[in-house]
Amino acid sequence: MSERDPQIYVLYTGGTIGMAGHPLAPMSADAFEALVATMPGFTPPWLTLQTLDNQDFRVRYTFDAFDDPIDSSAMTPLHWVRIARRVLAHHGEYDGFVVVHGTDTMGWTSSALAFLLEGLAKPVVVTGSQIPLAQTRTDGLRNLVTAMHVAATTTIPEVGLLFDQALYRGCRAAKVSTNAFDGFASPNGHPLARAGITIEVDQGRVRPAPPSSVTLDDPANRARLARRLVEIEAALPTFSVLSLALFPGIQQSNAVEVVLGATEPPVRGVVLQAFGEGNAPSTPSFLDALRQAHERGVVIVDGTQVMQGSVNVDAYQSASGLESAGAISGYDMTPEAAQAKLVYLLALGLAPSEIRRLMQQDLRGELEAQPGPTQGLTFASG
Ligand code: ASP
Repeated sequence: MSERDPQIYVLYTGGTIGMAGHPLAPMSADAFEALVATMPGFTPPWLTLQTLDNQDFRVRYTFDAFDDPIDSSAMTPLHWVRIARRVLAHHGEYDGFVVVHGTDTMGWTSSALAFLLEGLAKPVVVTGSQIPLAQTRTDGLRNLVTAMHVAATTTIPEVGLLFDQALYRGCRAAKVSTNAFDGFASPNGHPLARAGITIEVDQGRVRPAPPSSVTLDDPANRARLARRLVEIEAALPTFSVLSLALFPGIQQSNAVEVVLGATEPPVRGVVLQAFGEGNAPSTPSFLDALRQAHERGVVIVDGTQVMQGSVNVDAYQSASGLESAGAISGYDMTPEAAQAKLVYLLALGLAPSEIRRLMQQDLRGELEAQPGPTQGLTFASG
């Protein structure tokens, strides 16, 4: 621990952790802040924590919130950018960041933040809970306090998702239970840290600090990213990215043609949640609908609806039809990460061919079934 008390920034966006009533609805920012202040260890602006040998140490926190906290099922890419801008605006002032969020779309937001915050040099920990903080059996207090502990005491330069006893890489995590306290998992990659009696960071898994060309420790890089986030925000309303789960019989209607052809704003990207290792029906009308979209410049990602493992387009003939229609492999990315990454790359205004290339490259640790030599994307000179 450094000589000065660590300082963190906590952003409340809504979610069950801050909900009350029946049916549950988010409480106001003021009410949530006041509730947190009544929790053991909290004396605003301080949270008192203990080291293993029972020494107290203090974390100074600044509470901030969305004006209208929301159920995370109402999140949109514009909200992702809003969160990223708040973190970026304060990156120079704090040691770490906590984003309090609903669990339903937490995996999308934590993925999106990883892509949006290129050059992140400090921990950003997204967390929430299954039971509201106001209820006696809440898991929210432990999640919130552990997230604050991680943000204050580690130097992980990544977006993490803290839930129950694990800190997952944000762009690797998915909600796997509507009921269990360990409601998240990282099906294709170990957690970054385990939170038991001690918090054990798996240093070998943590990504290295960002290079000087992009690190957000540098005010010039922060200013450049701030400008880029404004451009991304302006681009978002101009296109749609869809996620399409295949099901037996999808080839018997013109659903794909209609959805890809008639959606407004126009579809520029689609993440297929195909079967198994990326397989799909090879019915000509189904593949033609995809091919026509590909020829219009739509980026089609062949992902899988199976929770664990990777797409392997070489395994079955039924995946080669998708490939010939222009789809590219999503490898082992979660659907959440693939969707957020596609939104991010499209919002940058890149050409479809470049987006197809980058979708198959690892940018933030989201893709580990490495398809080839990495030649990623940075804006060092942009
Ligand atoms: N519906 C809630 C949300 O995502 C669920 C939760 O937070 O657990 O905001």
